[in-house]
Amino acid sequence: MKRVLITGAAGFLGSHLCDKFISEGFQVIGMDNLITGDIKNIEHLFKLEAFEFYHHDVTKFVFVPGKLDYILHFASPASPIDYLKIPIQTLKVGSLGTHNLLGLAKEKNARILIASTSEVYGDPLVHPQTEEYFGNVNTIGPRGVYDEAKRFQESITMAYHRTHGLDTRIARIFNTYGPRMRLNDGRVIPAFIGQALRGEDLTVFGDGLQTRSFCYVDDQIEGLYHLLLSDYHLPVNIGNPGEITILDFAKEIVKLTGTNQKIIFKPLPEDDPLQREPDISKAKKILGWEPKVSREEGMKKTYEYFKSLTKEELFKSEH
Ligand code: NAD
Ligand code: UDP
Repeated sequence: MKRVLITGAAGFLGSHLCDKFISEGFQVIGMDNLITGDIKNIEHLFKLEAFEFYHHDVTKFVFVPGKLDYILHFASPASPIDYLKIPIQTLKVGSLGTHNLLGLAKEKNARILIASTSEVYGDPLVHPQTEEYFGNVNTIGPRGVYDEAKRFQESITMAYHRTHGLDTRIARIFNTYGPRMRLNDGRVIPAFIGQALRGEDLTVFGDGLQTRSFCYVDDQIEGLYHLLLSDYHLPVNIGNPGEITILDFAKEIVKLTGTNQKIIFKPLPEDDPLQREPDISKAKKILGWEPKVSREEGMKKTYEYFKSLTKEELFKSEH
């Protein structure tokens, strides 16, 4: 049985990865310190022999007994309000945490895939973004802690590949959504759906003309799985190219939820990228993968998930 370590296992993407690898017949070790994740996301796996959980902060030395075939490093705060609240932990998990996991991969002779992000492109001057674009990041801005941690993560991963011949993969993940996103994590989809369900106005930041391209989680997980099993070690964009302005997206949510919420405007956060759309030609060619789930279908499933939360969860405020 192949053994895989997934860091950030209790988070949104990490928990879906655990499900995927278990369903593919792997032995899965989940690791998380629960700083932004929720144990509820993986509780259903605890009864399985194929699953183990380590409550551990990956910025501290990481020890896993026995063999490891694969490591997926997904531990990191991922939503802007999270990484603005815990900037130093964000820098540490991308740098020290990644260093620890690369060391572990070298020790175990395991293949490692790291979760990078479209944020390495910053506020992009090239559109749509191809992997060849070097990016436009404000190193000292508030978002810099996340963007630079991820850029460092890519650099050290390539250094381990070149210096030690480590078998590495780099996924540049674009905005992904679906069940198990945290309702209060501040990202636009839980924010808008939560507001609609609570009967609040939808808060569009800036003039709402900034764009994003949203990928449904099942497509994202499939893309990541294909990348891990490919033999390609340079970065690959994984996302859905369907670009939309945030204002139009807010209107779609009003329609989807059948609520009659007003859309109000709030200031645009500093360094908020004005446009974002992945060029996924490389993923299509190298991985033979492309997203299949339309925004309409994915958003319906996501809305069903948020509707199933209790009133208490819906009105609980973390911030
Ligand atoms: P998430 O916050 O739901 O999950 C991250 C998990 O990492 C959480 O469970 C958290 O507790 C854990 N974690 C954080 N620091 C840790 C540490 N030091 N030690 C152990 N565990 C730690 O976020 P997500 O959306 O699932 O994102 C997962 C990964 O994917 C992140 O690396 C993120 O940068 C990347 N990513 C996500 C998206 C997206 O749209 N969701 C886009 C680009 C990149
Ligand atoms: N946004 C918004 N209202 C909200 C939350 C977010 O208009 O209540 C905007 C945000 O300014 C950004 C976009 O939605 O332009 C996507 O934000 P998110 O935090 O989901 O992800 P990002 O792509 O910025 O990391």
